[in-house]
Order: sequence, then C-alpha cells, then structure tokens
Amino acid sequence: MGYPARPVELIRSKLIRSPHAFPTRAGGVSLAPFASLNTASNVGDEPAAVAQNLERLSASFGATAKQLVTVHQVHGTTVLEATAEGQGVLGEADAVFTRRHGLLVGVKTADCLPILIEDPKTGQVAAVHAGWRGVIGEIVLRAIERLGADPSGLHVAIGPAIQACCFEVDGELPSKFAAAFGDGVVRPQPGKAKVHLDLSWAVARSLARAGVPDSHVDVLPHCTRCDARFFSYRREEGRTGRQLSLIQCVRETSL
Ligand SMILES: [Zn+2]
Repeated sequence: MGYPARPVELIRSKLIRSPHAFPTRAGGVSLAPFASLNTASNVGDEPAAVAQNLERLSASFGATAKQLVTVHQVHGTTVLEATAEGQGVLGEADAVFTRRHGLLVGVKTADCLPILIEDPKTGQVAAVHAGWRGVIGEIVLRAIERLGADPSGLHVAIGPAIQACCFEVDGELPSKFAAAFGDGVVRPQPGKAKVHLDLSWAVARSLARAGVPDSHVDVLPHCTRCDARFFSYRREEGRTGRQLSLIQCVRETSL
C-alpha cells in the first residue's frame, strides 16, 4: 500500500514480567484516519488491514493472531475467561483473563484506560478496558475477583489513556467521582467552569483499597490526547482507530 515498513512501537511497564505491550499507532498497514496500527474492525477500517495489524502485533510476541483473544467492549463490568486458541472475540465484556500458556489477551482503547494485570504466583494474566463508567464501576476489582488471587501479590500497569491534562467533564460526573474516590480525583482548572478528572488516579485508589500495594501499581504517564503517537477519540472527534494493549500468559497453571 506504499507504506514504508515501520516496526511496531511497544511501550512496556517495568513492573510487569509477563510479555506485554501498550502499542502506539505506529507500524501497521491501515490508511488514514486509521493509520496505521488500528486493531478495531468496527470503526470503518478495511477488515484485511485490521487482520494484518493483529498478525503483526501477535508476531511481536512470537505468536499468531489465533492465540489472541479479545472481547466485544461495551463499557460494562463483565469479565470473561479465554481458554483456547481461536476463540477470537469472546463476547460482550470489558475484561478478559487467562491461565492458559501461550494465550494473549487484550483490550482496545483510544483514550479509555487499558489495564494489564499479572499474578506472578499463578501466571494468570488479565486485560481490562475502563472508560469513566468502568472506572466508577471498578471493573478492575471485578477482574481481580475473577482471578481469585491475593491482591497483595498482583502487579498492575495502567497504560496510555486520556490523562487529567485533557479529560474535561461537566454535569454530575465530578461530584459522582469525588463521592467514590475522594476530592483528589477532581482537578479544578483556574478560571474555568469545567473541571478535569484523573481516571488513572481513581483506578489506583480502587486498587489500593482492594489491597494492591502502591509499589505494585505502575501508572504510565502518556496522554493519548496530547501525544499524537496514539489514537485518541477526543482529539480525532470519534473517527480514529484503536490501539490494542495485550499481555501473554507464559505459564500453565494447575488452577
Ligand atoms: Zn493530555
């Protein structure tokens, strides 16, 4: 398609030992406005390009796209388990976990929060998608419950997402978030009526209250709206692709 062969660009958390990545939009084959590593087939992109992008991402893990399992994200709090290759898209949910060696689980975002979780004791891994509804619904804790893991042993990375610098809100949201997470989640803007919310900070609060130590939570600083390396729903006014954040289970467990 006339595109130079650029490599995929994978951002990693120093905390997570399982193979994982928060990709940027670089290194794919989709054309504008989905250029280039778009992984969503329901946004208007060419299905063949999306399929090739998923193969490229999987190949960076030494895997094929058959080993990759995702969910049809609906801003809810359902968690599903990936158990076999070839499952593709499991169903309507916003978190997916696996204990199956070799499987990759992932979530698609363009401003929402991609959250990757590993349980070093069992090898289980999970990928969680959270917009503001998922943050206030504490889907990250629903995922931890499904893992059946001791929260104090988990490692969690909150990936590139719209950060407090850009997440302007109004109406009832600021008071709802302050009631759920404390006043620190609301960031007033000098001279402006609208305030900003810090969703990553709110997720970190949920994790702390559930017993995940602060030192086991890595909040990546990248803002998808500020940083043009990422797809951003707000910056592109809705017409854009999705980056797929993913994590691989590399240990068969007896659970
Ligand atoms: Zn920003």
